[in-house]
Amino acid sequence: MTSQTVHLYDTTLRDGMQQEGMSVSVDEKVRIALKLDELGLHFIEGGFPASNPKEIEFFRRMERERLVNAELVAFGMTRRKSMAAGDDPSLRVLAQGSAAIVAVVGKSWGLHVTKVLRASHDENLRMISESVAFLLEQGKRVIYDAEHFFDGYADDPEYALRTVQAAAEAGAETLCLCDTNGGTLPSAIDAVVRDVIAHVSAPVGIHCHNDGDCAVANSLVAVAAGARQVQGTINGYGERCGNANLVSIIPALALKMGTPVLSPGQLERLSETAHFVADIANVAVWQHAPYVGRSAFAHKGGLHVAAVQRAPQTFEHVDPMLVGNEQRILISELSGKGAVLRKAQELGLALEGDDERVAAVLKRVKDREHRGYHYEAADASFELLLRDELAPHKPLFRLESFRVIVEKREDGKTVVEATIKVHVNGDRIISTAEGNGPVNALDTALRQAITRKYPQLDKISLVNYRVRILDENKGTAAATRVLLDASDGDESWGSIGVSQNIIEASWEALVDSIEYGMLRRSQE
Ligand SMILES: [Zn+2]
Repeated sequence: MTSQTVHLYDTTLRDGMQQEGMSVSVDEKVRIALKLDELGLHFIEGGFPASNPKEIEFFRRMERERLVNAELVAFGMTRRKSMAAGDDPSLRVLAQGSAAIVAVVGKSWGLHVTKVLRASHDENLRMISESVAFLLEQGKRVIYDAEHFFDGYADDPEYALRTVQAAAEAGAETLCLCDTNGGTLPSAIDAVVRDVIAHVSAPVGIHCHNDGDCAVANSLVAVAAGARQVQGTINGYGERCGNANLVSIIPALALKMGTPVLSPGQLERLSETAHFVADIANVAVWQHAPYVGRSAFAHKGGLHVAAVQRAPQTFEHVDPMLVGNEQRILISELSGKGAVLRKAQELGLALEGDDERVAAVLKRVKDREHRGYHYEAADASFELLLRDELAPHKPLFRLESFRVIVEKREDGKTVVEATIKVHVNGDRIISTAEGNGPVNALDTALRQAITRKYPQLDKISLVNYRVRILDENKGTAAATRVLLDASDGDESWGSIGVSQNIIEASWEALVDSIEYGMLRRSQE
């Protein structure tokens, strides 16, 4: 247990942007920075202003914004060799920039000093202390990032220590030890952090990469050993295997290590923040991500469900509400009565445990799972099934028939046309539509046919379509499972269809998604 003050330092906008495929605009960087400020982080590293105009533009834009909790940090490097710090163009950019705090990275490993910098060990020490001193003279606060510190220490502990001592003596306010190659294990982090703290006058920070899948553990071990600043990124974004994931580090510090890193009320914004940054970066949060993933508090096994309903801590390491997530009870053949009752309760449908309809629902779920249905991702289809058993409602329409024609033409084009005949409130409607594929054509034809009677349908759109062949050994006789996600702009829901015929499976999922969407709107 530790109760020292620990500062959270986010580098999503600098190190996180090194992730393969990651690219956000200046505008998006500003939105992320404001969101991180709202979460309550102490430092937000905005980027490397000397590297390109986009970074400079970001710092300019941030001058107009007011941060409530965080301080904005600009990133740069120690001066080049054989040059005065005041003449180094990139240090001058930092000195002239609006960020009051700068992080300066320098070398700690002899191998890098001689092979990469091609400088002497002593020249490297001067580069560190002169760069830090210059920025202090210019009125900046300086955080010193000791690159490759743990590899440098393993190679030559004495020299590695001298590099951070040089930064401390020149006036750096924090010495951040970096596991740049990300391969150090927790036991080594613990020993090295303790040794550094015993030899330097300034507070120590930690910056880990995840190449050995230990970045979160390494960061927590460093804090336990006395580190006062933790650097990381939201969702662990970063080059190669990523940076230390602040989304996992923050709740561990706050809920398990007695380190009050955020103010009351802020921790509950963790899930929202993780998903917000992911949405902007256009990468989904990993479904099984600790604390904030959709499955982080999802229960499937029948006994587990019964137990968490009696006492959540039986299978949950923390209360999901504390990090802004929620418990989910999954419907599957493994789960029993408890899950059905719980789901019915969630939907506001009255049901007692001994009600024979519970057994009927379970039987239907099991029969269908046997045929290839899977309700975890098809909450809409499950709710319709449950309602059908408990409180049957009138379908939106009755299908007389549909026909889909796929025509491949000589010029290479493929044209798809669907015709549908339905009965809506006593009227027979025939509708034909073209589409870029059979499901799209059917969807369009069905909407055309029934939208006049149900104008709210306009708000509902299909957002995702996934197909899986269930038993590949059976060749074309194999069943096809179709999962559709639909959305009305506020919420999204999943539906499912299973058939040997892909069009039939798609149709089933399509009808469920529309029925459910309309049910939702009628309840508003
Ligand atoms: Zn890094």
